[in-house]
Amino acid sequence: MSIVYLNGEYMPAHEAKISPMDRGFLFGDGIYEVVPSYGGQFVGFEPHMTRMFDGLAAIEIQHEFSLEYFRDVCQTLCEKNGNGNLGIYIHISRGTDVKRHHAYPKDVRPTLFAYTFDIPAAPSADIEKAKTYKVNTHQDLRWQRCNIKSTALLGNVMHYQHGHAAGCDETLLFNADNQLTEASSCNAFIVKDGVVLTPNLDSQKLPGITRLILLDILKKYSDIKVEERIITRAEVDNADEIWITSSTKQVGAVVELDGKPVNGGKIGPVWQQAQSLFSTHQFDYN
Ligand code: PMP
Repeated sequence: MSIVYLNGEYMPAHEAKISPMDRGFLFGDGIYEVVPSYGGQFVGFEPHMTRMFDGLAAIEIQHEFSLEYFRDVCQTLCEKNGNGNLGIYIHISRGTDVKRHHAYPKDVRPTLFAYTFDIPAAPSADIEKAKTYKVNTHQDLRWQRCNIKSTALLGNVMHYQHGHAAGCDETLLFNADNQLTEASSCNAFIVKDGVVLTPNLDSQKLPGITRLILLDILKKYSDIKVEERIITRAEVDNADEIWITSSTKQVGAVVELDGKPVNGGKIGPVWQQAQSLFSTHQFDYN
């Protein structure tokens, strides 16, 4: 039975109850985070928490939570749920009000909910065994504050569904100028002539922790050239490799873009180097 954490208490999932007047439910007024844990070892715990605290500050949710408090909650949840390969989902809404009113209410306490879910084992850099991804594309129609990890994910959900309904694993998104932003639930990378490229961060992209760690690892431990800059649709169409990154996928190799093979439909050699380095250093960022 899954054990979850709600407002200071651990309990079986079916006992966790939240008021319908919670602003997370009524407005999607909250911040969330997903931290991967493999056999009890987190990946990127500190940067995940930094992003979450930045998100809470951005939407002015007042709280007294600390990094060590969340470390304890996450460790305890993993232990209570078997310490396997787990994603830890943390959701902090502004709290429960007595009426539905847009303005931020005073004197409400944030609602904190956390639970774990099974994730695949950390991928190894094995071209024969690695999962591959098919993606399609769409204009990015989300809001202008995608750098905030808001629980209001309908835009992402609709973009994800567009790909899912077409038999794809993800949807790559392009802004009105046909520049790559990210994917509906991942950051995006391309490789051209041995150079790893990813869109520079701005308010149209989530600052992904896998992206952050991967860039750091490539810069520290490889000679691979890395560029963060605008990437055009034409560059994506002509890429040697395309990757999507997220906490549960790590570096995911895309082998099909809008029905056309990428790198002849096979995982590319730079992916192998990148995932291998990620696997070696993934636990260094806690
Ligand atoms: N972009 C979006 C829109 C996301 O939802 C996610 C997380 N699923 C990411 C990027 C990747 O972020 P991270 O590497 O921190 O999981």
